[in-house]
Amino acid sequence: MYYTKKQIELVEDSIKIEEEIANYIKLKKKGSEYVGLCPFHDDKKPSFSVSPKKQIFKCWGCGIGGNIFKFIQNKMNFNFISSVKFLILKNQIELDEFGYSGKGDVYVLKLEEGKYYIGYTENLAQRMESHFSGRGAKWTKEYKPLEIVKVYKGVNRKFETELTELYMKKYGYRIIRGGDHVRKDLKFKHVKKKINNKTNEGVYILKLEEDKFFIGYNVNMDSAIDNHFDGKGCEWTKKYKPVKLVSKYKTRNIEECKKETISYIKKFGWDNVRGYRWKKDNIRKPKILS
Ligand SMILES: [Zn+2]
Repeated sequence: MYYTKKQIELVEDSIKIEEEIANYIKLKKKGSEYVGLCPFHDDKKPSFSVSPKKQIFKCWGCGIGGNIFKFIQNKMNFNFISSVKFLILKNQIELDEFGYSGKGDVYVLKLEEGKYYIGYTENLAQRMESHFSGRGAKWTKEYKPLEIVKVYKGVNRKFETELTELYMKKYGYRIIRGGDHVRKDLKFKHVKKKINNKTNEGVYILKLEEDKFFIGYNVNMDSAIDNHFDGKGCEWTKKYKPVKLVSKYKTRNIEECKKETISYIKKFGWDNVRGYRWKKDNIRKPKILS
């Protein structure tokens, strides 16, 4: 699964970053930008700003920033491809171009006990009647529908299944059924493989003794951070013991760690910072940094 550069640009051009981000956090206009409380660290300032002109966001507190895909990746805990797909489905961008247009409707139902159901129909009124009277699907018989959350018009079954999978990625496969994944006792092995739920993968920044820093990336940040504090991390954090966790954020892209490390080195100097793959005390400064 991949998207062409043209398709990615199509998505980016169809979205106003300030409007998309405003679905998740409260933004206030300030000059030519918008500001709000950062959703990625414990922000009281507000430190988070969005530039409609540049179509990027930036937090001056924790340092996170980038385009709308980067925001969705971190907010929803998605990888890059899923973030693109999510924006396409949610905003119904160029459905023809992405193979999602059809003659039916896809609906999202909120059910009892915090469950959800996603379905496809070509007769919405009749299908809702069935669900709400307990004749719709096994899942909506077991958990009664409370309300229709959303209806996407003019779409197909591929849209239905892929939307279901994104919901599963975000909220866990236990609470949702829909598309190709409707069985209550479904063996979720194949779905789980696709749906890497509740990941703890990301970048963390540690402040160390003597005003040194370390920036790391791990599939399990919390255990990696514990290891550094326990003196089982790397050479650099054994020499300079961690004093505190500056910040951490979820991402599946190790390049983020590289970028973060480089920006810290630029700010605090090569003598005071290690991170990414540069973990030793006495290594030569990488060319990319000079
Ligand atoms: Zn922040």
